[in-house]
Amino acid sequence: MEDNLARGGDFLLTGAAGKSIFSPEDFSDEQRQFAETTEEFIKKEVLPDLDRMEQQDFDLVVAKLRRCADLGLFLVDVPEDFGGMELDKVTSMLLAEKIAPAGSFSITYGGQTGIGLLPLVYYGTDDQKHRYLEKLTSGAWVAAYALTEPNSGSDALSARTTATLTPDGRHYILNGVKQFITNASFADLFTVFAKIDGKQFSAFLVEKGYAGLSIGDEEKKMGLKGSSTAQIFFDNVMVPVENLLGEPGKGHKIAFNALNIGRLKLAATAGGMAKGAFAEAAGYVTERKQFGRIIGDFGAIKEKLADMTAAIFASDSVVYRVAGMLDARIATLDRGGADYYERYQKAIEEYAIECAVAKVFCTDMLAEVVDEVVQVHGGYGYVSDYAAERYYRDERIQRIFEGTNEINRILIPTLLFRRSESAVFDLPAKIEGARTEVKYGEVTNSSEGLFRLEFRLLANLKNYFLTLLGSADQARDTQEVMLAVADMIISIFTLESVILRVNKVFSAASDSRKELLEGVLKIVSFEQAGRFYLSAGRCSAYLLKGESIIEQHMLAARLTAYPVEGLLEAKQQLADAAKDSGKYFL
Ligand SMILES: Cc1cc2nc3c(=O)[nH]c(=O)nc-3n(C[C@H](O)[C@H](O)[C@H](O)COP(=O)(O)OP(=O)(O)OC[C@H]3O[C@@H](n4cnc5c(N)ncnc54)[C@H](O)[C@@H]3O)c2cc1C
Repeated sequence: MEDNLARGGDFLLTGAAGKSIFSPEDFSDEQRQFAETTEEFIKKEVLPDLDRMEQQDFDLVVAKLRRCADLGLFLVDVPEDFGGMELDKVTSMLLAEKIAPAGSFSITYGGQTGIGLLPLVYYGTDDQKHRYLEKLTSGAWVAAYALTEPNSGSDALSARTTATLTPDGRHYILNGVKQFITNASFADLFTVFAKIDGKQFSAFLVEKGYAGLSIGDEEKKMGLKGSSTAQIFFDNVMVPVENLLGEPGKGHKIAFNALNIGRLKLAATAGGMAKGAFAEAAGYVTERKQFGRIIGDFGAIKEKLADMTAAIFASDSVVYRVAGMLDARIATLDRGGADYYERYQKAIEEYAIECAVAKVFCTDMLAEVVDEVVQVHGGYGYVSDYAAERYYRDERIQRIFEGTNEINRILIPTLLFRRSESAVFDLPAKIEGARTEVKYGEVTNSSEGLFRLEFRLLANLKNYFLTLLGSADQARDTQEVMLAVADMIISIFTLESVILRVNKVFSAASDSRKELLEGVLKIVSFEQAGRFYLSAGRCSAYLLKGESIIEQHMLAARLTAYPVEGLLEAKQQLADAAKDSGKYFL
């Protein structure tokens, strides 16, 4: 079965055997070329100037944005009719990944090409696109997205900014304050969310030059110091009615749909940042000596290199699998027809669960990686002469924006239940089936042959998850339970993505690569089985009482068992390969 056209969330309900997924090994020459150009640009033109940009030299930041425009990096998601290239989501994610090591600049870039540009691309009228798209893609103008307010962050729909139609019906008058707006200090066009008559949540295209719009002081941030983040004040700002984006009262669609792709891009960004940070560690461990040896020879350091490598491999597997799913579904759409972008949005929305899973998994992975990268540097990781310190600071916000990781976690099971209720799939029947199977022990119909242990583990996790989901269904209002459910889902998707990727590329790999791939698979399987066990334990401890807690723990221990051999050797081998290459190498 092709995974790519599966329904969103289906991975939890279907077996892994026979599924085919997109993975980095499938990148086309064109995609690789784009990635190389971007990587070169970041290495040669951005990273050398990053210190100056971190001092908030915004003229320099804007000049670098213009260079992105020269290289066509703003055209990736823009329709051909408007001079864009409208490339696939895989390319879009690759660019996000390659720009990511530039930390704050990647957020500036994302503010322009992601949340800045996409609402206009997806919801703009032809007139709006003619007026603004070329200005933005040429780099003449910078875009920003203004949703958050001082009193409405996660609860974005409770925004207080108002839009009032003038008696002559020609303008909306905007009043309010927006908070934490990326690119605010140098943006020319803002997508602003406000409520018409204090009720209908809507989006507006607002030019910097409109009277009454002013920008606050730059926030003094922990990290991303080279990006602009400030408040925007609207004091009777007259916005022409032609600049209403989408329909009145439908702003939530714009706000939330931009977030699905935004989340996947952030996941790709996290992967790219992790690779940048990892390279710092992989280089440092072969230079620093203690006790007469390079620190990279110590098992404690080697284990970190191996675990980080496996975690990055897993994040790549997740990001590009989801990007492939989006591309496959988008490719089935007929480009003709006025409702193309509506259907396009639906295709993206189909994988809202997977996008949220990717965001949480990859940003959490980044947090663990940058923490270990600082640790590997010892005291030098704590001082700003070393890039490890910057990566550590720049990481922290990734778990907060594009929906905090708590909000995304809660969203994951919520969407799953919603899909079941709207009969996209029959969750109760699947839960019943899983209960019967679990009652009789392990999954019996798991595949034989290559990676038998891992396929069996995955099948067991899915079955056990479904049995718990049946009980968790009664506790939808208990967030602690929903978070545990989300963590189990994240483990399942991650493990499946890695198993399917390794299984797909294994036979064509060289002998030495085969060993490394097997090693990564062992590490990820071991790690995710352990994480799943803890999440399942939390879930049943919250839901059950007395003897049944013990019964569940015993069942969980049996179904999450992964009797792997050679884990230590696999880690040592991966660590040695990382030291040899001085960077992420898979
Ligand atoms: C550097 C930076 C750049 C940003 N760029 C932009 C931008 O360009 N445009 C824009 O519009 N916004 C931007 N933001 C805002 C960002 O998206 C918000 O900070 C984020 O959505 C969280 O909102 P908040 O800060 O108000 O936190 P809150 O919503 O107040 O959350 C505080 C805590 O409560 C938790 N919480 C809140 N509600 C719930 C709930 N229902 N259930 C469980 N837990 C909950 C959260 O997870 C969090 O841990 C940016 C922020 C920063 C710091």
